[in-house]
Amino acid sequence: MSVFHTYYGYGKQSQSGDARMNNRVFASLMVCGCLVSVLVVLISQPFGHVMENRAVIVSWDGGKPSAIGRLVARGQLPVVAQLMRQGAYTLTARTIVPSSTLPSHASMLSGLTPEGHKVFWNNYQADKGYIQVPTVFLLAKQAGLMTGMVYSKKKLHHLAVPGSVDEEIFVAEDASSVARHSVRLLKRNPVHLLFVHFSDPDAAGHQDGWGSDKKGEPPSPAFLDALKACDRATGLLVTFLKSAGLWDRTLLIVTADHGGQGKQHGSADDEDVLIPWVASGGLAAKKGKLWLMVKTMDTAPTVLLALGLPIPSDWDGKPIRNALKPPISFIRAY
Ligand SMILES: [Zn+2]
Repeated sequence: MSVFHTYYGYGKQSQSGDARMNNRVFASLMVCGCLVSVLVVLISQPFGHVMENRAVIVSWDGGKPSAIGRLVARGQLPVVAQLMRQGAYTLTARTIVPSSTLPSHASMLSGLTPEGHKVFWNNYQADKGYIQVPTVFLLAKQAGLMTGMVYSKKKLHHLAVPGSVDEEIFVAEDASSVARHSVRLLKRNPVHLLFVHFSDPDAAGHQDGWGSDKKGEPPSPAFLDALKACDRATGLLVTFLKSAGLWDRTLLIVTADHGGQGKQHGSADDEDVLIPWVASGGLAAKKGKLWLMVKTMDTAPTVLLALGLPIPSDWDGKPIRNALKPPISFIRAY
């Protein structure tokens, strides 16, 4: 008990010389202990990933961040609002141009711009095969981790390079169904890396409209309902991860592939290019709003860092260290 009293009393002027000496010795030991802990983590990284850590990437297809921000402010997206409060986020992250689904997800999951990954097409074409560069799934697999994908647009199969995804589920259904499939997947195989894709906002945007911020046109009610459905579906994942005891060692990133305006997207306009990027879970730092530029290419390296894996030096994306708790944020990239 006296040790703790001494430590917490460190710096008090009324202490005797001996007490101050003890304090200094104890403080030094504490600092050394912390340094040793950090060094152990740093040294252990090159020899093995952090097996217990997990990363879940949740993509709200067409999830326009200005609309998300307004719903959060109204208390209508309670799940993502809590993730934002408890983690680190920006609603002005950027995707690539063209701001379309398959090239954008290719950048999100490969850490490269389209010039690097060369996935310029945006529909399912079996003869195109697979993305030709390493994805975050492939790198995780090569390190001995388990991976999974649950997605609601068939064209995302182009990103599931054979041998890189242990559990692949294509389900052309709504966010609730995709989330339930994802939870079932995690129950039978708690993969280290899971990608989950909800297409509801994109479908509603093309059908009824994303609105237009610069024209002062609000998003369609159907689009807002789709965002609320994504919020509930994300909540199913969060609830499961917490109930299974996995949350504390999980990095969960909620993001999107593009926004939209009117009933279209794909351009270089901010209404199409801006995306949400919310890092949460026990591995995320409680930083609130991030005041730095986040690009969709940063998602893959941030995930690799959370999993304790090396990051390819030729990637365009960089890990968002501010979004991660120490000591993970201190691990050097390779
Ligand atoms: Zn899309």
